[in-house]
Amino acid sequence: RCIAASASSPAAATKATTEVPAQMKAWVYDAYGDASVLRLDGAATVPAVGEDQVLVKVAAAALNPVDAKRRAGKFQATDSPLPTVPGYDMAGVVVKVGSQVKSFKEGDEVYGMISEKPLEGPKQSGSLAEYTAVEEKLLARKPAGLDFVQAASLPLAVQTANQGLERAGLGAGQSVLVLGGAGGVGSLTIQLAKQVYGASKAAATASTAKLDLLKSLGADVAIDYTKENFEDLPEKYDVVIDAVGQGDKAVKVVKEGGSVAVLTGAVTPPGFRFVVTSNGSALEKLNPYLESGKVKPVIDPKGPFPFSQVVEAFSYLETGRATGKVVISPI
Ligand code: NDP
Repeated sequence: RCIAASASSPAAATKATTEVPAQMKAWVYDAYGDASVLRLDGAATVPAVGEDQVLVKVAAAALNPVDAKRRAGKFQATDSPLPTVPGYDMAGVVVKVGSQVKSFKEGDEVYGMISEKPLEGPKQSGSLAEYTAVEEKLLARKPAGLDFVQAASLPLAVQTANQGLERAGLGAGQSVLVLGGAGGVGSLTIQLAKQVYGASKAAATASTAKLDLLKSLGADVAIDYTKENFEDLPEKYDVVIDAVGQGDKAVKVVKEGGSVAVLTGAVTPPGFRFVVTSNGSALEKLNPYLESGKVKPVIDPKGPFPFSQVVEAFSYLETGRATGKVVISPI
């Protein structure tokens, strides 16, 4: 944003380089635990930029359940060393580029998921900070027409939604059931299934107050899990995406030969589990759907949370009741 603002001044054409400080504000934890381990560090080190990386001035970041699970120490065996600046999702402005970077330049507005594999050696210096260093291959241009909050809400969830449907092999004219349709992943899975994959029928589960949201996202059938057990209903689906952790029940409603992608919890055959991978060019391929409005970011109405309220935002996410995405902005 600094660059966009200075672009109108006559000096801007010759002076594109933004001053990058050595220190920054960042949320950090030194030990695993609940949200109370988080502290705001006013003098964290701005990460160094590798030759294949850009430095992004973060404008907005989003939380994901994996941030909370990682902070709780669930992935210690494969995590980066402590202390950790958490956060995978972000949108912001490129302020520095590594020597090998080809696709981005200073001033570009980008978004992405900053670690290629969220569970295997994720970055120690994440997105809940003023600056984050990211490989260019993990980034995409911020979709035109989306603000930073909207863009930051997308990368991990929309790539999970996309990779889940792709791996499950959802084809045009097929049916899909999305368990957890109102969450970050589910709200995008419904939309991608209908708008990108051409599903003929999308059903999804949520509690009573969220059924209208499911319909507005394109669900043909909204199942109230407080009133009905989806596994007892007669309908069977070509694909089931489980974003809740109901893998045992999910396999009861898939057609023979169909697929069940399980994002969390135990896997029952023929269900399969996968973990999202960050990929900038795959994200770029979704940009036209985001720019045309066919696929819309869903931001939880309690947010965006200011940067000072990251602890509150985590606590809210960890209720498991968020609608769409919990976003942190401005940073
Ligand atoms: P969210 O925190 O956004 O999900 C919250 C939503 O879940 C709420 O809207 C809630 O709706 C809904 N929900 C809770 N319980 C149920 C239920 N029994 N039936 C239907 N809906 C329910 O999480 P995400 O969407 O971001 O992630 C979902 C899960 O997937 C998490 O466990 C996450 O860790 C995992 N995940 C795994 C990935 C992978 O690569 N394997 C990638 C991304 C996520 P309501 O209030 O109506 O109950």
